[in-house]
Amino acid sequence: MKHIFSGIALLIFLSFGCSKNENLDNLISDNYPYKQQVGYSANDILSNNLYTNILIEVMYVDGFKPRSATLTNLKNFISARCYKTNIVIEERLINITTKEAYSIDDVREIEDTNRTLFTNDNQLVISAIFLNGNSINNTETSVVLGTAYRNTSFVIFEETIHSFSDSAFEPSRNVLETTVILHEFSHLLGLVNIGTSVVNNHQDSTHGAHCTTENCLMNYQIENGTKFSNWLGGEQIPQLGTFCIEDLRANGGK
Ligand SMILES: [Zn+2]
Ligand SMILES: [Zn+2]
Repeated sequence: MKHIFSGIALLIFLSFGCSKNENLDNLISDNYPYKQQVGYSANDILSNNLYTNILIEVMYVDGFKPRSATLTNLKNFISARCYKTNIVIEERLINITTKEAYSIDDVREIEDTNRTLFTNDNQLVISAIFLNGNSINNTETSVVLGTAYRNTSFVIFEETIHSFSDSAFEPSRNVLETTVILHEFSHLLGLVNIGTSVVNNHQDSTHGAHCTTENCLMNYQIENGTKFSNWLGGEQIPQLGTFCIEDLRANGGK
């Protein structure tokens, strides 16, 4: 049983979803575009040039609300990296026609139908959707746990996270949820090299917008079984490495 879990879990981490194929329709809400590519709002999220406050609109399907400890971790992460005076998280149950598997187009539609809060005045708003079911991009050998898909939007496949956490030989729910959320949020911050330029080259170009630094939150490959086992053994949430933090600071962050 252990071998099975290790094998599957290993592959999960190879497939954090990233931004792809967003239509660049310039729909504007309250004058702030929210249908841009991932990374477009990096400086606005990191700095306080235009927006001193940030609000995360968490929308979840019944039964798939994220843990409050996870949201606290997100808040602390924002506070550590972004110049924001107020960081607010609002949670709301959404009633949608659920599916077993969602495409990113489905997710965009869910956001467009359910999102109620948009960036205006001095407050930047992020949309975070927590779904039942799975990503349609799952394969027999890899699973998508979350995807940053617009400049201020990410989705978490919470039911998939449930099925790969909190059992024997699996990471705890808190660790897995936090890792996925912070990873996707960091894509919104422009990592790696999508809206936030690299100071020292550390982009893992083979794997897109990811980091070459071992153990970094933005590292794509956790291919080393030993490293993964260690990670499972300790209840550690991966942190951003030096190069990623350097990039954020150069783009207005902390
Ligand atoms: Zn990623
Ligand atoms: Zn890094």
